[in-house]
Amino acid sequence: MSSSSRTGRFAPSPSGPLHFGSLLTAVASYVDARASGGRWLLRIEDIDPPREMVGADGLILDTLARHGLHWDGAVLYQSTRHARYREVLDDLLARGQIYRCACTRARLATLHNIYDGHCHQHPPPASTPCALRLQLPEKIFAFDDRILGLQQQNLAEAGDCIIHRKDGLFAYQLAVVVDDIDQNMTDVVRGSDILPSTGVQIYLTELLSGTPPQYAHVPVLLGADGKKLSKQNHAPAINSATASANLYQVLIWLGQQPPADLINESPELILRWAVAHWDIATIATA
Ligand code: GLU
Ligand code: ZN
Repeated sequence: MSSSSRTGRFAPSPSGPLHFGSLLTAVASYVDARASGGRWLLRIEDIDPPREMVGADGLILDTLARHGLHWDGAVLYQSTRHARYREVLDDLLARGQIYRCACTRARLATLHNIYDGHCHQHPPPASTPCALRLQLPEKIFAFDDRILGLQQQNLAEAGDCIIHRKDGLFAYQLAVVVDDIDQNMTDVVRGSDILPSTGVQIYLTELLSGTPPQYAHVPVLLGADGKKLSKQNHAPAINSATASANLYQVLIWLGQQPPADLINESPELILRWAVAHWDIATIATA
């Protein structure tokens, strides 16, 4: 099945069916993994039930399969990983890397999105319902994005980030890092909307003695209104009946140059062409 030690993944949140923006990320991560002879895993990031749609995971799996995007092994559901996330939180707490925060929404609203470390200096009483925040160092973090080139992020700029919410839900930053470590991820290809989180994720990976993956952030698709295609923007669901045309269009958006007659082929054949000709350097960055 796989001839190299590379591992990539597609990690959708099941908040609705796939739209063209998420299909683009799925195809880019799939083709990139297969082009290096690597494995491609599917992880359903179902850690935020209020934002999820019942049955979306099934729709996503079906759409991927009908586009020939076949994943390796079993699908990993983050909802089955709570005990592991809890264990990591306990470890970080014991090491003094995270702290309890009882700040109200009203107080946070006055801070303009940059947490000021208040509860680190003034720990809330033990009985207060709390979020957990990861303490971030004042440090410029540099990493080489395979598409966007050298990126520099000051970790402290956004303030210490929440990794466990006051309502008891695990935060995306924690779950994504723990799973990428535990699944031995070497290559993350995802939308550039997540770029700002990457420095924090590399930092947390190293704190947990993991090896950070290589990152490639694919520019996000914009709708006719100039806004990111997303479920919130009511981007239409992918129609699997036109899978070949969908894949062909996605390859064009990814800067690849599929021959015109490829559009009439099966999804599997189109993907085989894409894997054989994959060139991440031709993805337009603007
Ligand atoms: N679950 C995230 C999303 O659907 C993607 C996480 C990631 O690729 O790191 O936006
Ligand atoms: Zn606080």
